[in-house]
Amino acid sequence: MAPERRYWNERMETLAPEAFLQVQEAALTRELDYLWAHSDFYRAKWAAASVERGDVAGLDDLAKLPFAEKSELRDSLAQHPPLGSHRACSLGDVIRVYSTSGTTGNPTYIGLTSHDRDVWREVACRAMWTGRMRPEHVVPLPIGTFFIAASYGEAIEHLGAMLVPVGVGATDRFLGAVRNLSADFVLSTASFPLYLIDYCEGKGIDTQALGIKGFFVGGEPGGGIPQVRRRIEDAFGCTVRECMGNGDMLGLMWAQCDEGLGMHFVGQGACHPEIIDPESGEPLEIREGVTGELVYTSLDRECQPLIRFRTRDHVLVVRTECGCGRTGFVVSCIGRTDDMLIVSGVNVYPAAVRDVLGAFQPRITGELVIELYEKPPTVRPPMKIRVEHGPDPGDLASLKKEIEHLLREKLIFPSDITLVPPGSLPTYEYKAKLTEKHYEE
Ligand SMILES: [Zn+2]
Repeated sequence: MAPERRYWNERMETLAPEAFLQVQEAALTRELDYLWAHSDFYRAKWAAASVERGDVAGLDDLAKLPFAEKSELRDSLAQHPPLGSHRACSLGDVIRVYSTSGTTGNPTYIGLTSHDRDVWREVACRAMWTGRMRPEHVVPLPIGTFFIAASYGEAIEHLGAMLVPVGVGATDRFLGAVRNLSADFVLSTASFPLYLIDYCEGKGIDTQALGIKGFFVGGEPGGGIPQVRRRIEDAFGCTVRECMGNGDMLGLMWAQCDEGLGMHFVGQGACHPEIIDPESGEPLEIREGVTGELVYTSLDRECQPLIRFRTRDHVLVVRTECGCGRTGFVVSCIGRTDDMLIVSGVNVYPAAVRDVLGAFQPRITGELVIELYEKPPTVRPPMKIRVEHGPDPGDLASLKKEIEHLLREKLIFPSDITLVPPGSLPTYEYKAKLTEKHYEE
């Protein structure tokens, strides 16, 4: 038997550091030449920042270029429909348009040429292979309304696995695919398998007997939380691997390998990631332990290249070398700036609260809601949190004290915990909502 293929694209995923920089720099040079020739949006933007083409010779000069903000893309789309002045190709070359989910404003439209589509698909296949998807898998896709589902589906087919689109809100159809088609590898949000556990419990379905071998989860930080992963692994007897992308940039470009927590960058040649200090905007050296905001630069895009696009995603660099042989640095997602709360001057991500509370399972179920009485990010201390206790929590008064103590110790903010019975907080099939509004806009 042939040894198992370890990578989707061995050359790109295992580039030595020097070779990686050469690949990125050559691609950056091509992309910038293309934009200076074809993009009114960037020519105007860079002229306003007094940057000329000759000022940016390579990666070391990248920071001379100003950031691109999501709000600029929205304005560009509104003023120059249908695809904004940041469209750099002719409209006739566009073969597909996505709209983002619009959770923080109007939808944005993302156009792809056939070359752009191929690049997205290639990088998604690298990520899926890293996360253990293989050609023999049957893959139900329970994310039909997700704007990018078509590109995921296409990458699943390109990898050689069998795609079964089932759509969101169709749990019976999903289970039908599992039972009738032996669907065994699932690409979904982290909330979906948790929802599925509850759903199966309610219907008396044995999750272990379903035969699901793997979940590849993304779209929210849950997949990186050890207790969440363990709950999914235990319930289904499967692997859980985490992935991350960015709707404006590449649907999937980070994926967890077999070596441990965190996700490898696998977008070599397609995207250049930077990590910046979100306050000062200064680029940070990528080394273990560094935290900051991800900034992406397109390296091989025709329709709407993004140069130094601020993602608002905050990450921690977990490691820069890995036993799997992949050389893309490994990050874990801490949260989004949009979700960040500030309590007594301390930055707190709701996902981090859930992470810390995981230590109390099974005395708690893992479900929680942070009550917001003022418009975020400011929260007047103590932060009020409702937490679902488990069926056998022991003394509730002491559990409350222990949780408040650990939150103060780990995340350095005062909290006021209200314990509520299991099943009393809402569960989410798509993405978990960890905060609840108690204020008027
Ligand atoms: Zn690895």
